[in-house]
This record gives sequence, C-alpha cells and structure tokens, in this order.
Amino acid sequence: TKSLVWFRRDLRDYDHAALYHALKDSEQVVCAFVFDTDILDGLPRDDRRVEFIWESVRELKLALQERGGDLLVRHGKATEEIPALASVLGVECVYCNRDYEPAAVKRDDTVSQQLGTQGIAFKSFKDQVIFERDEIMTKSGTPFSVFTPYKNACLRKLDDFHLKAYPVDRYIHHLAQSAPQPMPSLESLAFARSNLKQLRLPTGMSGGMALFEDFSERMPRYRDARDFPALKGPSYLSVHLRFGTVSIRHLARTAWQQGGAGAETWLNELLWRDFYFQVLYHHPQVAEGHSFKPEFEHIPFPNGESLFKAWCEGRTGYPLVDAAMRQINQTGYMHNRLRMVAAGFLVKDLLIDWRWGERYFAEKLIDFDLAANNGGWQWAASTGCDAQPWFRIFNPVTQSEKFDPEGKFIRKYVPELQPCDDKEIHAPWLIPPLRQQALGLVIGKDYPAPVVDHAMRREQVLSLYRQASSRK
Ligand code: FAD
Repeated sequence: TKSLVWFRRDLRDYDHAALYHALKDSEQVVCAFVFDTDILDGLPRDDRRVEFIWESVRELKLALQERGGDLLVRHGKATEEIPALASVLGVECVYCNRDYEPAAVKRDDTVSQQLGTQGIAFKSFKDQVIFERDEIMTKSGTPFSVFTPYKNACLRKLDDFHLKAYPVDRYIHHLAQSAPQPMPSLESLAFARSNLKQLRLPTGMSGGMALFEDFSERMPRYRDARDFPALKGPSYLSVHLRFGTVSIRHLARTAWQQGGAGAETWLNELLWRDFYFQVLYHHPQVAEGHSFKPEFEHIPFPNGESLFKAWCEGRTGYPLVDAAMRQINQTGYMHNRLRMVAAGFLVKDLLIDWRWGERYFAEKLIDFDLAANNGGWQWAASTGCDAQPWFRIFNPVTQSEKFDPEGKFIRKYVPELQPCDDKEIHAPWLIPPLRQQALGLVIGKDYPAPVVDHAMRREQVLSLYRQASSRK
C-alpha cells in the first residue's frame, strides 16, 4: 500500500504522529508540503513567518532526503493540490496531524470530501498538543472554562503514555524512494527575505533543538526569571511550537521528568497552550470575534483612531508599553509579561476594542497562533476564560517599576529615555523641567507626553464594564 503524509504545522521528521502511523501502516510513504495560497495571499510580501516556514521546510526536505525519501513541495491551493497529488501518486490514504483552527478544520473537511470522491481515505491524528478536544472534561462532561481546574485535571491524567515519542525510525525504511525534487525558492513563491536572519532566530528542527538545549539549563530558574523582560527567562520556543519544529511531547516530558518549581511552572505554560486550543475547539465562535463571555460582546469602546496609532507605533508616552510595541514591530516577538501589559493598556487605558489589538498582534507576531492570541486578548480584556474579575486593571507604571526595575528593557527599545535614571524612566512626564533640560530630554518633544491619564481612564473603563456586566 502507498500513502501520502501531508505536513502542515508539524515540520519535523521525528516524534511525528501522522508520519509514524503512515510508515507503520503502508509500504511506501510519500511526504508533501503545500505553500497554501489561501493563507499566503493575505500576507505581506516580507512576512517573517513565511521565511521561517520556508527555511524549516527546506531543512525538513533535506532530512527526509538523507533518510532516502523526499518532501514534495507544492505552491497553490491546498484544497486542490493535495487531492491532485494523491490521485497522481495513486495513494490509498492521506495522513496528517490535526489542526484545531476553524479555517483549517474547514479546509481539511474539503480535502477529505474531495479525496473521498476519489476513493482515497483521509486520516488525522493528535500531534500538536498533549491533550485535545474532549480528552479533559469536567466531572459532568462539559469542557473546562477556567484554567486552574483544567490544569489540575491534566496533571492527574499525565503519564508516560501521553508523553512518549512516536518511534518514526522503526519504520523509516517505508519512505518512498525517489529522485530528489527541487525546492521552490522564496522568490518563486512571491515572497522576499525579511529581517529574520538579523534576529538570529534559529529555524527548523535544528533551531528548535538548539533553543531547547539552551533553555533546559535555564529551566530550573524559569519561575523566577520569566516575568522580567530584560532577562533571558523564557524559552523563546513559541514559534517552534507554532510550526511543529519541536515536539510538544519531548518538551513536556523533559519538564515533567525534571520536576522542581521552574519545570513545573513551564509545564503549566505548555498546558495553557493546550487549554486555549480546547477552548477554540469547543467554542469556535471566538475565532469570529465573539467574546467568550457574552455580556461583554458589545461594550461601546470609543476606539480612538489616533490613540490606536500611537499604541501601534510605540508612542503612548508610557515607556514599558512603548518598549513592548517597538519590540513586536522590530522582532515579531513580545515577552509574555509585556503582551499582558500592552494588551491590557490598549483595552483598559486607551478604551479600544480588544479585537483591534488581536488583529495587530496576528499580523506582527512570528509565533501568532489563533488559539493563544485570542485567549490572551480575551484574558487581557476580561471577556474570556478568566477567574479574575473584570475590574483587574494593570497600572502601566507600577508594572514597569516591578518588572523592569532598572529600566534595562525600556532603554533597549526606547533609546530616547537612556539618560533617565532608574527611578525616572518609568514615568518620565514627572521629571521636573529643569532636570529634563539637564538630561537633554524634553517630554512632549523628544519623547511623547502620556496620551491618556491612567487614573481617569481607569474610572471610564470601569464604568463601561460595570454597565455591560449589569446587562448580564
Ligand atoms: P515560554 O514562557 O517559554 O512558554 C513556553 C510555551 O508555552 C510558549 O512557547 C507557548 O507555546 C506556551 N505558552 C506560554 N504562555 C502561554 C499562554 N499564556 N497562552 C498560551 N500558550 C502559552 N502565544 C503564542 O504562542 N502565540 C500567540 O499568538 C500569542 N498571543 C498572545 C497574546 C496575548 C495578548 C497574550 C497575553 C499572550 C499571548 N501568547 C501567545 C502567550 C505567550 O505570551 C507566548 O506564548 C510567550 O510569550 C512565548 O514566548 P516563549 O516561547 O519564550 O514562552
């Protein structure tokens, strides 16, 4: 028997559910990846993510070639390319790993139906999460909508079985032998290089492995370091998890076996990721802009256009928020603490609809993932799955003093503020004029004065939410 493995967000050749099952069940396995124009057409031509994928696909192709096989790389609509390829190759079954985003589910249904008319089977597997869909449910059989009890249920169920690797090598001799086919260039896909290389973000399986090795040594310190953007605290693996250049089982197993406060906290974060995937699976309407909590669906946010622009460009006059926004603009990454601060600020200080911010992050983040991004934004806007009440409002100055106490991170991305001392840098508008002169920094000219007054906006937003919640 012959089968086709369709790679998507699982760009690796080890511990891969679909590849393992295909190799085990068939005598000849062909591998393919499609640069899907249904996705690519909407992206800017120098999108970092396309370059990341392209580099990772190239590495995967070489790795499969070294093992005697190949990766066929196509460019077109996946819904047409895959059925066409399956038919030309004469395979009996197409294997892939499940994707939980509504658009991907729809795409896979289309492909599956099309294959069905050709008499070809379509099989999908859990691969990108530890637990999926309805594996973790409440005692009454409903999905969890609060993280902590969900996490506790996961930890009770977690065992070797759920974390063990798929031994792809055992059947690797079933890879179909063929003359290597060329890899289309990035230019032929109508994309250009971005600044990915300058960012020194390693791509592909090798990049994911290198980052994880580096992080494994730091994992014991993760809990203490993770909230400080000036420190090398987190793993920076999100983009690799997004495109499957690492295996979630490998990461989770390492943390689970290592134990201790750092590893446990990190495992929690991996479970947040699973949590948002299952929220998306059970509540696909959140992907269409609906609030998880219906009472907050229609908050009449004033949505000031110029305030939004100032936020996007990192010119709000609040240094930590501006540093965060400049980080995402320059690098496509933003530290988790800053995502919470910048998102909370957009909604609760600038009174702008969270969906605007969600869209901006979706465009910019190299690790953009619909489930985590939507979950994060709804968390920040208090419209989502959160045990905290809606009146939790971050104070951008206090956050700055607490999480960037020496202003190191701010100085990196907001160089105008370099002359300020460690105390002044968090709220530079409070620096007396004479001292501003001495520093050579005039607030309102060299760096913006705050675009809003936090205390005033706090009252306004509380009133908006109070009214919305009373309509419950
Ligand atoms: P680490 O701290 O090393 O964490 C390890 C992994 O756990 C991450 O790579 C990620 O896969 C997962 N993880 C960590 N925190 C979360 C979380 N809160 N929710 C879900 N998964 C988590 N993460 C994305 O991967 N894509 C997004 O588009 C995204 N958008 C976000 C938007 C907002 C408003 C917020 C508040 C958070 C968002 N996150 C998103 C979650 C989190 O900020 C990033 O996963 C994290 O900063 C990535 O850095 P890291 O890999 O170094 O994380």
